[in-house]
Amino acid sequence: MRRETKTSQERFNRAKQLFPGGVNSPVRAFRSVGGEPFVVERGQGAYLIDVDGNRYVDYINSWGPLVIGHAHPKVLAALSEQAHKGTSYGASSLPEIELAELIMQYVPSLERIRFVNSGTEAGMAVARLARGYTKCNKILKFSGCYHGHADSFLVQAGSGVATLGLPDSPGVSEMVARDTLTVPFNDLEAVEKMLEAHRGECAAIILEPIVGNAGFIKPLPGFLSGLRTLCDKHSTLLIFDEVMTGFRVDLRGAQGLYDIKPDLTMLGKVIGGGLPVGAFGGKREIMEMLAPLGPVYQAGTLSGNPLAMVAGIATLREWTQPSVFAETAACAETIVNTLRSEAQRHDVPLTAASQGTMFGFFFHAGPVNNYEQAKHADTDRFKRFFHAMLERGVYWAPSAFEAGFVSHAHCGQALEHTLKAIVDVFAELKA
Ligand code: PLP
Repeated sequence: MRRETKTSQERFNRAKQLFPGGVNSPVRAFRSVGGEPFVVERGQGAYLIDVDGNRYVDYINSWGPLVIGHAHPKVLAALSEQAHKGTSYGASSLPEIELAELIMQYVPSLERIRFVNSGTEAGMAVARLARGYTKCNKILKFSGCYHGHADSFLVQAGSGVATLGLPDSPGVSEMVARDTLTVPFNDLEAVEKMLEAHRGECAAIILEPIVGNAGFIKPLPGFLSGLRTLCDKHSTLLIFDEVMTGFRVDLRGAQGLYDIKPDLTMLGKVIGGGLPVGAFGGKREIMEMLAPLGPVYQAGTLSGNPLAMVAGIATLREWTQPSVFAETAACAETIVNTLRSEAQRHDVPLTAASQGTMFGFFFHAGPVNNYEQAKHADTDRFKRFFHAMLERGVYWAPSAFEAGFVSHAHCGQALEHTLKAIVDVFAELKA
């Protein structure tokens, strides 16, 4: 029996009269998997409940931030207490200091940090700062990596751009696009050639150190350290975009996991505990180029607002309790192991991996080391898998090119439900 979706359909029809495609961010629209999205009534722990009363185990978790689940009581208490003291001051306040100290304790490459309101803003700021510091204009990125929707990064981008199979976005001027150089992820030789071809022109290399926006792709051994060496050789800054991986793949981020020190880091998602927060930071000498100390301008009306800051603090305090991260990571690993064993049992080509509390899979025999290879995955099989899981109350990202996110609330019943659904769906996929 199919789940009831009448109310969702009615509400989504209303949304389509209001928002382009009915949504306020493209991947939400189910375009690449077909059908229409459900409309959420509420989130609760590991679950989303839609307006028809269907309950789904949620592996999107607001696209990463909700590491301790929806509506966690500690986050709600912190928000409620702060809201009574005011939601935004536009002035220095204690919560921003406390959150910064907490983050910097885990990510020591951040000698100075600045809060913004989204990962996109962090991306815009690091691009400007890198250019201002190095006096070079070009930025080298990797195809399939997503760094927010600022013009400089909408060249062979991942996430919704990859999901919808869009060419580079119209509206990005040729001049900006010309300053963005793109090479395949995990291809050190291509990076070296590109840096040689543009000697003295590259402000920075920017990357997701573990890719989560072209599906889930890990760096090959030596790739990140090779980039560090090349950046030093060419006086180019190394920027780790840890908006997704920060506090997700390891409490110290990918940079702690792989022991690489980037010059600048972008953060977002988890550090805001589900409220709009981004941050960027790094070497003091570079960060002090920012206004008011230096000439590179960057500002924000709601940056560091106390409501968002206390959500981040409450989330990180809970997330860094002993064993919470490890238990959640074990949950991600169990999902990946089950996907692998069911695929093998039914002879379905599959490549799957997890790191910490992020995971992903491709219907492809592998290897999948970059977006160029990811594009060969069987997206039709993914569509069938996605819808079959949805009918069984498990909600993955509606795209073959996004990662999955586990929260601590998943450990237990929600995980058991998921594993059973995977076993059932693989048997059905084969049929
Ligand atoms: N960087 C990465 C790695 C991301 O995954 C995202 C969003 O998914 C961004 C930047 C942009 O963040 P936001 O959506 O908060 O603007």
